[in-house]
Amino acid sequence: MSNRTRWKRVVLKMSGEALGGSASHQAIDAAEVERIADEICRVRSELDVEPAVMIGGGNIWRGTSVAGSKVERATSDAMGMLATVINALALQDAIERKGQATRVLSAIQMAEVAEPYIRRRAIRHLEKGRVVIFAAGMGRPYFTTDTSAALRAAEIEAEALLKGTHSGVDGVYDMDPRNHEEAVKFDAINFMDVVSKDLRVMDMTAVTFCKDNKLPVVVFNVKEPGNILRVLSGQEIGTLVK
Ligand code: UDP
Repeated sequence: MSNRTRWKRVVLKMSGEALGGSASHQAIDAAEVERIADEICRVRSELDVEPAVMIGGGNIWRGTSVAGSKVERATSDAMGMLATVINALALQDAIERKGQATRVLSAIQMAEVAEPYIRRRAIRHLEKGRVVIFAAGMGRPYFTTDTSAALRAAEIEAEALLKGTHSGVDGVYDMDPRNHEEAVKFDAINFMDVVSKDLRVMDMTAVTFCKDNKLPVVVFNVKEPGNILRVLSGQEIGTLVK
């Protein structure tokens, strides 16, 4: 594997489910968090990448889709944002146990457990070699962590957004490969086609934001060990959307 990186500063978006264990059925699986933490440490130390991570909360609570929930939407979304904080702390703990400094920057103020998100501070942490973990999305209801990741990427002038999938789908297909054997994967696709074909890459708000701000996105399977390193060392896995 080459030790040259494709992009220097990136935002890695992972769903909360990426931290879960398919075998253990735990919302946060210790072995899985360890593995992801290890890969993040390696891209920091071996490739000299400045990684910022936006972690979702769907393994614990997702605002829109908890079956039977009658919780008011804004409250439900607040619960989802708090779920992301739990995941962020789990990831921080695992990364720091490996000796890599991290900072959790939360969009909802909770000074006892995380720093508040301040754009310049995020950039400073990255410049100093710390891994930044964004928690609580963008701190507003009706948004997702996909859109929050795109926003943060633009704010910190990241060169790319890496969207790690957890469902076994390893990129963007013309139809859902889980239901259609004949589905064809795109190695690369442009944002216009993603929008016009209504392809499920990320939520549309995130897609149009990346398009407007010329932020390339790589959709790849983050559950496959080694893939975070592969994407950043220039191997063409997943789908590049630009
Ligand atoms: N959320 C929100 N505003 C944000 C980010 C997240 O309200 O800026 C809430 C929303 O309810 C969402 C939940 O937090 O469903 C968890 O985030 P997401 O669904 O993006 O997590 P993932 O599916 O990536 O695990």
